[in-house]
Amino acid sequence: MKRAIYSTLFVFYILAFANAQETDPKATEVWEPVPEKVVPGAYQYSSAPSDAIVLFDGTDLSQWKKPKYTYGGDMKSVREVLEKKIPNIDEGTPPEWEVKDGAMIVKPRSGPIETIQKFGDMQLHLEFLSPYDPGKKGQQYSNSGVFLMGIYEVQVLNSYENTTYPNGQAGAVYKQHIPLVNASRPPGEWQTYDMVFMTPKFNEDGSLKSPATLTVFHNGVLIQNNVSIEGPCLYIGKPSYIPHPEKMPLLLQDHGDKVRFRNIWVREI
Ligand code: MG
Repeated sequence: MKRAIYSTLFVFYILAFANAQETDPKATEVWEPVPEKVVPGAYQYSSAPSDAIVLFDGTDLSQWKKPKYTYGGDMKSVREVLEKKIPNIDEGTPPEWEVKDGAMIVKPRSGPIETIQKFGDMQLHLEFLSPYDPGKKGQQYSNSGVFLMGIYEVQVLNSYENTTYPNGQAGAVYKQHIPLVNASRPPGEWQTYDMVFMTPKFNEDGSLKSPATLTVFHNGVLIQNNVSIEGPCLYIGKPSYIPHPEKMPLLLQDHGDKVRFRNIWVREI
């Protein structure tokens, strides 16, 4: 009898835990290990190589659009949006983000922007700046994101003396991979991301053949070393792969903060 009660309680516990994983964003925050701080070398501006596709040279947003469909933070909404988006992937309207002083600036609550061109395997360079705002902290301090293929996020955040869960700090593959070290510069300074991204490959029946992989340098420092991505980056719940085309737009997130971007270019692999 006692045994039956214990096993029933155990089942309830497992179900409650599984349910929390699906509904509670805190369930997927990982707070250890905290990446060690590394002071990067001095910032140097480097213009695009000759064979790069320049996505933003400081002048206009002609390579970008505001997507018609935007994702929520769990598998259900990602699945729903992808179902609508993939057949109409070229749909969108002109982005509302501001271009000023050679940078594009997130217009809070205007939504994300994505490239008109679609990309698969690639080398990506971009620069971002977190405006100095001591009133902000945690995930609310200069949050944005580089969404490879629109669904795999490298976090953009002020992570200079700003504590948050490490799998959500700058350079994290959001809620999947903590950066190896914290190479953040202070707010108000330009920072670089250089990435090598290989797309996931799918079998004809839609099953996963090989996961996406990612290498990231933050301010010239290796922070993600050929990690395997587990699926779309989610705020809530555990990811799993959804088959999608070999090329998809690159997306930058509007998380309500006036993060700036500049010098964005891609080399297709
Ligand atoms: Mg973000």
